[in-house]
Amino acid sequence: NLVPVGRALLSVSDKSGLLDLARALADLGVELISTGGTASTLRAAGLKVRDVAEVTGFPEMMDGRVKTLHPMVHGGLLALRDDDEHLVAMAAHGIEPIDLLVVNLYPFEATVARGAGYDDCIENIDIGGPAMIRAAAKNHRFVNVVTDTADYKALLDELRAHDGATTLAFRQKLALTAYSRTAAYDAAVSAWMAGALKVETPRRRAFAGQLAQTMRYGENPHQKAAFYTDGSHRPGVATAKQWQGKELSYNNINDTDAAFELVAEFDPAQGPACVIVKHANPCGVARGASLADAYARAFDCDRVSAFGGIIALNQPLDAATAEKITEIFTEVVIAPGADQAARDIFAAKKNLRLLTTDALPDPRAAGLAFKQVAGGFLVQDRDAGHVALSDLKVVTKRAPSDAELADLLFAWTVAKHVKSNAIVYVKDGATVGVGAGQMSRVDSTRIAARKAQDMAQALGLAQPLTQGSVVASDAFFPFADGLLAAAEAGARAIIQPGGSMRDDEVIAAADAAGLAMVFTGQRHFRH
Ligand code: 5GP
Repeated sequence: NLVPVGRALLSVSDKSGLLDLARALADLGVELISTGGTASTLRAAGLKVRDVAEVTGFPEMMDGRVKTLHPMVHGGLLALRDDDEHLVAMAAHGIEPIDLLVVNLYPFEATVARGAGYDDCIENIDIGGPAMIRAAAKNHRFVNVVTDTADYKALLDELRAHDGATTLAFRQKLALTAYSRTAAYDAAVSAWMAGALKVETPRRRAFAGQLAQTMRYGENPHQKAAFYTDGSHRPGVATAKQWQGKELSYNNINDTDAAFELVAEFDPAQGPACVIVKHANPCGVARGASLADAYARAFDCDRVSAFGGIIALNQPLDAATAEKITEIFTEVVIAPGADQAARDIFAAKKNLRLLTTDALPDPRAAGLAFKQVAGGFLVQDRDAGHVALSDLKVVTKRAPSDAELADLLFAWTVAKHVKSNAIVYVKDGATVGVGAGQMSRVDSTRIAARKAQDMAQALGLAQPLTQGSVVASDAFFPFADGLLAAAEAGARAIIQPGGSMRDDEVIAAADAAGLAMVFTGQRHFRH
């Protein structure tokens, strides 16, 4: 199954690595054919190359829309070299075999990413390139197709190892990469069109990812896993720079994402904030006078759970915060930057991973969220919902004080990032109790209160921090019981969407207990 490579067609938009590759191919005695821009690059470097126009007998035309779309090219790529009829056709029409195709496509994804207009994007949809790639990949029994500059070296190694030929296994691998590339390319075009034409539920959806990392295992050691990026370059764990520590695991990536997405809700211009996450739920969230103070206050919400946690900051990591963080074991710290002094402190902790990004994610950014179920995917807009002070409706006799209002909004923001049923107690800009993932709302309410009690005991406080706190519920209280449990724990004000059949009962219970309550009119289920 060794096939010698005698002739190559090179047509690339990304010309990095091109000259080295072409020179090495020429040295191996491979004849080079090329399209306009690629040919000029090669010629300028003194390489001998035939224009594809000479091969087809047609000039490149229509702004390059038609360059290689011709039987002289596609026949050379598709002909079966061991089929008599194919050989007769080649001889009859003077078609020469092309054994190697090196193509990378018009930069459609990059064109979209830079915010180009509709016509510009259309013009950057490559037609001839994908056509050749698919033809060469189909005929991988005889033809090599290289679509990724990262594969140039492997190609040359293969050719040198086999005296200018390649093995079938090698060509098969190239073909697989090639079809993944054209699939991803068309997925990008289709996703862009759906967005540009505002088609919310296209009849078919194509997704594509770029392998970023293979992992030793997934959520559990018996599960294989890998991380694929989606090409959006959204600031976050996918684009972060890792300064130290071993590779992130599947769970690390999931938790780091949860932590960073939540901390990004707190505008750094309004002061430092810190989030500590365990199992994708926050176990401590706080603002502070300084970043170190924010961390200390977040830590005090639930010191037990915070051990081995994932920390996200909304401002660059500084030395004082780094110092405090290293007092216990932490898995990952992510922040929009870290100064040298902070990095030096972390350097002594080899197992602590430090990730930095250039920016915080935009919590209001549009985007899609996926969930897999047996036999399909659920697709929805990401939860970019936001409630402002002016959206709140006071429904009780007592209106919340300004301080309570600030805490209510804080609690609401945290609740958005807690698995349902979510109950979040907050005092003075810090969570003091988080109840997550329970099947009944009243259980979440009680669990959060009990945890606050445990913390009070650990900190040697006279009473739990929920005394005089406010509480957020991610969805309405269906009955008064949950609200009464919160009041019993010491909550003085409540934020919730409202909209229950029994709102009247719940409001009456709040009034009877002297609580202040506001409705948001918006829910934040998260499962
Ligand atoms: P060059 O810089 O060599 O002029 O053009 C290289 C690019 O043209 C490559 O990205 C390749 O995929 C693309 N290409 C090759 N043939 C055709 C064709 O017939 N039509 C279109 N639209 N693009 C082509």
